[in-house]
This record gives sequence, C-alpha cells and structure tokens, in this order.
Amino acid sequence: MIKRSFIGLKKPRLEYTKLQGSPPALKEIPTPDRITLLLETPLEKKNGQINSGDAVKTGQILSATKDVACVSPVTGTVSTVTDWPGDFGCRYTAVSVEVAETEMDETFGSISQNLSLEDAIRYLSSVPGKPPLKMFTDPVVEIKTIVITGIDKDLSITTNQYALNTDTDAVKEGINVLKKMTGVDSFILVVPSELAGKAQATDALVKTVGAGYPSANASFIMQDIIQEVVPAGKTPEDLGYCFMSAESVASIGKSVQSGQITKRKIITVIRKDGKTSLVSAIIGTPISEIFKTCDITVKEKDRIVFGGPMTGSAVYCEDHPVLPDTDAIMVQDSGDLPLVSDYPCTNCGECVRICPAKVPVSMLVRFLEAGQYQEGADMYDLYSCIECGLCSFVCPARIPIFQYIRLAKYELDRVKSAEEANV
Ligand code: SF4
Ligand code: SF4
Repeated sequence: MIKRSFIGLKKPRLEYTKLQGSPPALKEIPTPDRITLLLETPLEKKNGQINSGDAVKTGQILSATKDVACVSPVTGTVSTVTDWPGDFGCRYTAVSVEVAETEMDETFGSISQNLSLEDAIRYLSSVPGKPPLKMFTDPVVEIKTIVITGIDKDLSITTNQYALNTDTDAVKEGINVLKKMTGVDSFILVVPSELAGKAQATDALVKTVGAGYPSANASFIMQDIIQEVVPAGKTPEDLGYCFMSAESVASIGKSVQSGQITKRKIITVIRKDGKTSLVSAIIGTPISEIFKTCDITVKEKDRIVFGGPMTGSAVYCEDHPVLPDTDAIMVQDSGDLPLVSDYPCTNCGECVRICPAKVPVSMLVRFLEAGQYQEGADMYDLYSCIECGLCSFVCPARIPIFQYIRLAKYELDRVKSAEEANV
C-alpha cells in the first residue's frame, strides 16, 4: 500500500502487504504436460550427465556437472537440453521434461532421516524457497545464526507470510533438521507483528519488523533487530548470519518429515489492477499455465515481472518456468507501465531524501550514466546501496537509477572476477 503525503517535503510511506485474519485459499495450478528446469551452469560446461531422451523419476537428481544439480519434481522423459540466457550475463542449462505418470525415485526417502549436509545440498538446494545450503560449507565464513524471514522482501507479496502461517509445524521441523545438519543452534524468526503468535510455536527467537518499506531488507534487519551494522560492500553472511525464507525452511522440514521432496512453490500473483492472489505451482511450470488458470490475458507490450514492484525483474516470454525462488509474478498493462526516460537529472534531490542508506544518489547516478562505475564506488558510496528501488520510484525525471546501480555492481564484480582469475 502506498501512502503519499500532501505536504511536498514529507517522504512517501510505502508499507508491506500483510496477511490479516485467516489465510486466503491457495489456488493449485494443475501439473503441466511439460516442465522446464533451469540448472545453474552454462550449457557448454555441461559434461553430458543429462541428455535428451533420458527417463527421469520424481525426486531424481538431474545434474549438469558434478556440483550443479536439481531434483526433478516430475516423472517423464527429457525432451530438450538447451542454453537459457538470464539476467546480468547469467547462463543456465534448460532441461525440459515431458510429464508422464508419477514414479518415485526412492533414494531421498532412504537417506532423509539421517541426512548429511552434502546430501542436503544436492537434494534440497532447489526446493521451494531455494535455501542457500552451500553457504554452510564456505571455508572462510562460519555461519553462527540463521535468520528466517517470515515477511516478504517486496511490496504486495505475501508468499512467506502464507508459508509461515499455514506450515508453522514444518518450519519448526525445518529448524530441527538445520540444527542437526549444520550445528548452528541460534535461530531468529523475523515476522510482522500479526504473525508473532504463530511464530512462537517454532521455538526460534521471534522478532517483529515494522510495516514501513524497506524494514524487511536484510541490512535493516541486521541493523535494527540484530543490532549489527553490515559495512558497505559486505553481506550479513560475512558477519556469520545466513538469511533463509520461511518457505525454504518449511520445504526442508516437510521434505525430511515425509521422505519426499517438496515440489510446489507458493507464488503471489499480482494482476494488472494490483489485486493479488496466491497460487501453488510445480517448479518448472511455464508461467503461461498460471495465467491460464488465473484468467490473466497478457497482450503484446504488457510487462511480466518476477518479483515485486520495487525490485522485480522483467522476463520476456510466457514459457519462462517457475523457479525455486519465484515468490511473485506481476503483470503490468502496457498502458500503465512506469516508463523510464533519458531526461537529464533536474537536481530535485528526491532520491537523496528518500534513500534509507543515505547514498548521495543524485551524484552517484551521474557517474553511473557515464559508465564510470569505479568512480561511483570510490566517491559516491555505490556499495552502501541496499537495492530497495526507492530512488527510481520517486525520481520525477524517470531515470532508471536502480537498474544503473545493479548494472554497475555487476560490471565491477565481473572486472574483479576477471582480475582474480588472471592472478
Ligand atoms: S536503491 Fe536507491 S534508494 Fe535504495 S538504497 Fe540504493 S540508492 Fe538508496
Ligand atoms: S530524483 Fe531523479 S531528477 Fe531528482 S535528483 Fe535524483 S536523479 Fe535527479
């Protein structure tokens, strides 16, 4: 919900959407005839472990390389294995499976009660919510606390609130599994005040977060709730805190309890008129199936966004599959799109006033527009940005500031990785 002030100098206040009362009905998207799974490795690095024509069972590991794996949520035959370009230079291997009658792979069930961290990484890293389990094997960083977020990262989304509200026991079980597997025994569950009562049943330390955006951003949770400041350019993980969504912890709990890997992702669908509904879909379902079930018509030039209105990213085809971390799908009508422009900055200062990280945005953006990323980082605090998108939201010149910032960080990371590789 957006509340704009009538007094010009007051900042607009944006609030997270909260699930009030009993949770709404979850619409189940039927299993499609074909799913597509995106493996996080480029096709040319695939070493022949999955090929078209292969038969797969539900719960079977599909791996492109020794380290990159995901679990098939369906039984069927691999029809294609192709390259799939993603955002910011990411490249995936897309594995499409023609769905047949369910036949279970029993391997996970036989090991689920004594799951090692290595097995959990292979079997549970691609469950709904995408828990970052690999983080616990980092030789440099020791995770001491797991922070579970029972609130969603962007506006209009209620996916994780729903998961916590309806799967409280599974979250509790997930915490027990994580304790055993990782040795971490400090768990903080961050929730909106409405869910504090439910959250107490999980045995985690419950903390409530304010309604104003972006108080659920990891940097703000660290600063305001945990009272540790994340230095610019660092992450909570660098300080020993691992953030996981409530849905991902519930998925771990449910999978281990039942011996069958959870495969249905909860998704908030944000319609063209801003109304929202919650659906569940098997990971890999083409989003066109969700539109069909929800009676949403997507016309040419309408925009489809994965994520929420402040920080989501556009996707370019209705064949795009649901991913393990697709918390929301938003459809915007072509006539209502907040267009960007190449108007020059008018120096109004709105972006500076609203920036919660106190970045001198109006100066920073001048350097980023000119491609001077390193100067932007050295002189104008690029790495203090917590990527909330508020500056783009208020900019009257419609400069895509948030996109410039993400591009700048990506380019600087790329240069750094290339330099490290050369060394
Ligand atoms: S996205 Fe913009 S408003 Fe948000 S922290 Fe970064 S610079 Fe500040
Ligand atoms: S809000 Fe936009 S126009 Fe105003 S100072 Fe910032 S970048 Fe310039």
